[in-house]
Amino acid sequence: MPLIKKRQLENWAQLSGDERERFIENLPDTKETIEDLFDYLDRRLETVACTHDLKFTMQFLMERRLDMPKFMSWLNENGAYCDCEILGNVEPQWFRAFAED
Ligand SMILES: [Zn+2]
Repeated sequence: MPLIKKRQLENWAQLSGDERERFIENLPDTKETIEDLFDYLDRRLETVACTHDLKFTMQFLMERRLDMPKFMSWLNENGAYCDCEILGNVEPQWFRAFAED
């Protein structure tokens, strides 16, 4: 196998290995709901700057009566402690994790 090809395969395996599995296994809700959350935050943060708390996330979770503690621990585990960090840290992992779907 050519070396370059092999290296590409290794990189791909790194992206979609244990990290990916852990990320997907611990999802606090359905894929659709979480994508709705990203959309919701995208729309809110377009007009209002992030105040570095989870204000809009809380609003979203309350409006839909979702499992807040479950969401919070998932978000914290993935490096998001405020609304803009969800878009900055979690959303990119999300697209990486689900790129093959
Ligand atoms: Zn923020």
